[in-house]
Amino acid sequence: MRLLLVEDDRMIGESLQRALRLEGYAVDWVRDSGAADATLASERFDLVLLDLGLPAGAGSGAPHADGLSLLRAARARKDATPVIVLTARDARGDRVAGLDAGADDYLVKPFELDELNARIRAVLRRHAGRAEPLLSAGGVTLDPATRQVTRDGAPVTLSAREFAVLEALLAKPGAVLSRAQLEDRLYGWGEEIESNAVSVYVHQLRRKLGSDFIRNVRGVGYFVDAKPSS
Ligand code: CA
Repeated sequence: MRLLLVEDDRMIGESLQRALRLEGYAVDWVRDSGAADATLASERFDLVLLDLGLPAGAGSGAPHADGLSLLRAARARKDATPVIVLTARDARGDRVAGLDAGADDYLVKPFELDELNARIRAVLRRHAGRAEPLLSAGGVTLDPATRQVTRDGAPVTLSAREFAVLEALLAKPGAVLSRAQLEDRLYGWGEEIESNAVSVYVHQLRRKLGSDFIRNVRGVGYFVDAKPSS
């Protein structure tokens, strides 16, 4: 999963980026509304964490003074990316305005990482139209909260990136994801993409989950079968 963090406070931004990367998310971080606007207009994210009090950005000519107007503009151009707003304590008006501007949820600073992670999972689940917290297909089940994976009920140990590839594929069984789409889920900006990485992780996953669990559409990408295995 690829997240965009929009936060001007360096300490908060650095610690959130580090913590969320440890959770296995690819996290890109921008620090003003101009950069956030440009990034959202040109790249695809699974979720945005949006601080509301933001500088406009030097020389950007950004029309958006803060996170709220940025969010309104994104919704106005039909950008449906899920957004969790980060607000200051005692700013009830901000929380109401954030939700009414199109945010999916909010968190009041300071917050615990546990709660942030749970809200991210809940928002991603709702956005995908799922009530069920577990992802599963073909006898393989993945729990995004505990990061446990089982095959026919038996635990399977995966690396963080193998987990990320499996999570992306299981989120939409039957849908083909291209190599580039999978790389997007694995790497944030500034992280060097290892050549052939996706093939390597798919190979490892097939070894652990069954050779025909992940299917290949030559020249297009990968998918897992929506139907249970026979
Ligand atoms: Ca701020």
